[in-house]
Amino acid sequence: MATASPTAPPTRIAAPDEGATSARVIIVGTGFAGLGMAARLKRAGMDDFLVLERAGDVGGTWRDNTYPGCACDVPSALYSFSFAPNPEWSNTYSPQPEIWAYLRKVAADEGLLPHVRFGRTVEGARWDDDRRVWIVETSQGAYEAQVLVAGLGPLSEPSLPDIDGIDTFAGSVFHSAQWDHDHDLAGERVAVIGTGASAIQFVPAIQPQVGHLTLFQRTPPWVMHRSARPIKPLERFAFRHIPGALALTRAFVYAVRELTAVGFTRRPSILKRGEKLARAHLHRQVQDPELREKLTPDYTLGCKRVLLSNEYYPALTQPNVTVETSGIARITPTSIITADGTEVPTDTIILGTGFHVTDIPAAHAIWGRDGVKLADQWSESAAAYLGTAVDNFPNLFFLVGPNTGLGHSSIVYMIESQVTYVLEALQAMDRLGASTVEVRPDALAAFNEDVQAKVAGTVWNTGGCKSWYLDAHGRNTSLWPDFTFAFRRATRRFDVEHYVIRSADGELVDADG
Ligand code: NAP
Repeated sequence: MATASPTAPPTRIAAPDEGATSARVIIVGTGFAGLGMAARLKRAGMDDFLVLERAGDVGGTWRDNTYPGCACDVPSALYSFSFAPNPEWSNTYSPQPEIWAYLRKVAADEGLLPHVRFGRTVEGARWDDDRRVWIVETSQGAYEAQVLVAGLGPLSEPSLPDIDGIDTFAGSVFHSAQWDHDHDLAGERVAVIGTGASAIQFVPAIQPQVGHLTLFQRTPPWVMHRSARPIKPLERFAFRHIPGALALTRAFVYAVRELTAVGFTRRPSILKRGEKLARAHLHRQVQDPELREKLTPDYTLGCKRVLLSNEYYPALTQPNVTVETSGIARITPTSIITADGTEVPTDTIILGTGFHVTDIPAAHAIWGRDGVKLADQWSESAAAYLGTAVDNFPNLFFLVGPNTGLGHSSIVYMIESQVTYVLEALQAMDRLGASTVEVRPDALAAFNEDVQAKVAGTVWNTGGCKSWYLDAHGRNTSLWPDFTFAFRRATRRFDVEHYVIRSADGELVDADG
């Protein structure tokens, strides 16, 4: 398995002055994307960058999602940076506190913290074509940069359901990504809305303490056995001391995960085998035929994210749990009324309703050349060249942009591919004496046509479900429809021929000349 090019770890602490409001590069966000970009810049000796973070700590989604039971469903060996292997994971699938701690450690070890400006919520970013800079407005004033890297994360803005009467509810309501740890659920009548990756983790964690839990399920997910287990002391010893042991495990996990892409992207018929396994899992764990029926999906496995859990179904069989499938008609100050008129008295509502993924809120606050608003340019559908660059938006690079999400492997691998691409772009700009690089519209259009043609045949588009992978027009603007190594190959060098490149005085630069 290819890993990011090995560059030397940082030896200097050089960073822009504490009061600096400009830098060559501004990165937004400190999740895997923002920190990955910052670390690679630092290792390349490019210290002139700032990282803007709205919160008071690094970590992105792994800082924000602290709900009980939160863990990763991609094995730890692969869900980490290739340049910062971690032999200390406690489990083959890491719990959230460990992943957050890992990210904090990477930020400290790589010397990134002096670059981070905490408590800066980005309110908007505007390209100034005369001065060829991005002006980034934050809650603590404006910053300027030649290059803007958006590491916002598609799973960062909670999606709150617009259910009639929800504002009138007198009890507590909170989203899984904004868990209220001061709220004691013991003995309460709790309603959970949603049955996605988050809910299936926190439902079994809270079920033993609540009085009664009503799970409002709109669509049953496919759930499979989760093969998580603690890392044995001998394994940890090997990871710490035997060169290549961790890398080999990572390569093995990568290869196995990559094989599953065949089913998702090329031959959905293969997924029938997975459906059999998932059905057997359900049959083993749920004896009640009526409950089983409710929990059996009617779409192809993989159309929505395949969920891994050994605790979810058993929790739903407990006497203090009801799975409600008739839909929510409205909410009163004290209860939830279902579509068939049943009243469910409720003390607390927990929303496991996911995130704004395809309707990226930030797109409404980014203005490119000639004042073009990104949300307007994306009004049909979001598209970015290699999920990274957009015409009319010079020197702006997205990490985990459109069509770079995954249904089968580690997003960290995709992030590292994009980070290499951005690094290569910066190096090309230096080499060519360029002040701006802007992707050619025809290059973006051709790339997007290819992606959309490929994605049309995937299970995400043909599997007979609705999911957050599809935008309001039914287009899949979220997932990469191929092997991840194909993306790695496409992003291994900055392809200047697909960009309009201008010098400091605005003249076109002939990159081939
Ligand atoms: P999600 O997968 O988008 O699930 C949202 C759930 O809420 C769905 O069951 C959805 O039903 C339901 N829902 C949304 N609006 C509703 C409404 N108005 N009324 C009733 N039900 C409603 O969100 P998530 O569980 O937070 O997960 C999001 C993503 O985060 C995952 O796909 C995954 O990529 C990531 N994640 C990963 C992990 C991990 O282990 N690595 C853990 C958690 C999350 P429908 O299905 O009918 O739309």
